[in-house]
Amino acid sequence: MNLHEYQGKELLSSFGVRIQRGIVAQSASEAVEAAKKLTEETGTGWHVIKAQIHAGGRGKGGGVKLAKNLQEVEELAGQIIGMNLVTPQTSKEGKKVHQVLIAEDVYYPGDNEPEEYYMSVLLNRSNGRNMIMYSTEGGMDIEQVAEETPHLIFTEEIDPALGLLPFQARRVAFNLGLSGAAFKEMTKFVSALYTAYVKSDASLFEINPVLKTSDDKIMAVDSKVTLDGNALFRHKDLAELRDKREENPIEVEAGELGLNYVDLDGNVGCMVNGAGLAMATMDLIKQAGGDPANFLDVGGTADAARVEAAFKIILKDPNVKAILINIFGGIVRCDRVAQGVIDAYKNMGNINVPIIVRLQGTNADIAKELIDNSGLDVLSATEFQEAADKVQAVLS
Ligand code: GDP
Ligand code: MN
Repeated sequence: MNLHEYQGKELLSSFGVRIQRGIVAQSASEAVEAAKKLTEETGTGWHVIKAQIHAGGRGKGGGVKLAKNLQEVEELAGQIIGMNLVTPQTSKEGKKVHQVLIAEDVYYPGDNEPEEYYMSVLLNRSNGRNMIMYSTEGGMDIEQVAEETPHLIFTEEIDPALGLLPFQARRVAFNLGLSGAAFKEMTKFVSALYTAYVKSDASLFEINPVLKTSDDKIMAVDSKVTLDGNALFRHKDLAELRDKREENPIEVEAGELGLNYVDLDGNVGCMVNGAGLAMATMDLIKQAGGDPANFLDVGGTADAARVEAAFKIILKDPNVKAILINIFGGIVRCDRVAQGVIDAYKNMGNINVPIIVRLQGTNADIAKELIDNSGLDVLSATEFQEAADKVQAVLS
């Protein structure tokens, strides 16, 4: 589950990570109130107005603006709230902005100019260890840094039994070229950040930029926080931060029905039981010259009600030109699934895309008979290749 920048910053702050202070606002007038309050606390009259959407690259898309007085806060907040923000990380249509973060301007010039670093905490999947990835090249796309100047990206791997050790935090500060007060600040920042990551069961923290202010404070100016959805049951407070407006509406609905559904760009809908078989089925569709329209794992209990729910979800996608049902009857009997498919088909009435059903496992032969004798526009298949050929035939 992804958090908004302001939610991520609040989470970090609660673990002692220094952040650029800010207040979220839903309207231009709330933005002005927020700016007044921040000025009372911080003394600065300059503020940044930051669109809150679940996508990065907002600066480039015009979703981060600097205001030097309250009138500009009002104007800019009014412009940004309600806009469709297009960034390198959104679709072409962009994302609607519902709220902005009003934050203190922390880029005040001084004897030392402010400096931006990159820092993330994530799981290294090749060895199962958390790591901190960081770079002197903050504020830019890390992908670009990795491409052009990979030697400027450092990593620190953490032993799960020992946690982040003090010498590792010091090495981070050293590699970032810090000294004096900023060095100490950075070691505290890194330690608090790592604690926050572990304690909140996060799967990604990306702080870009981490800022060294001209008075040597180290703080998070941005935050991208992804929490492990499977651990949310033990973080009720964090689970409440979910913003469904930011998610794909079909995926939200499927989730509420207990279906494991991921929307994709292709034209062949698929309904499968088991994630592994679903992946194999998507490969099969590709080989047959199609493109999967979704990933859908209906789980172990593929009864009529579930099959019907899954059909409805798949058909919400207007790109679907055919549906491939590939179910292995291990726990569930194939004839029950077949009956479910037939019942759902009849109940829904207006399915006008061809359906190919492959049922294998317990009672597969009875299932095939049921499908073949149903009189419906449903093609049955027993073998994987046969299913692929039939998909190919209906697409061409
Ligand atoms: P992103 O574009 O979605 O990654 O959003 P960020 O929160 O990283 O902001 C984009 C850029 O805005 C940063 O890299 C900074 O250069 C700039 N920015 C953010 N906060 C401030 C601020 O307080 N003052 C000034 N002058 N610039 C800021
Ligand atoms: Mn950023």
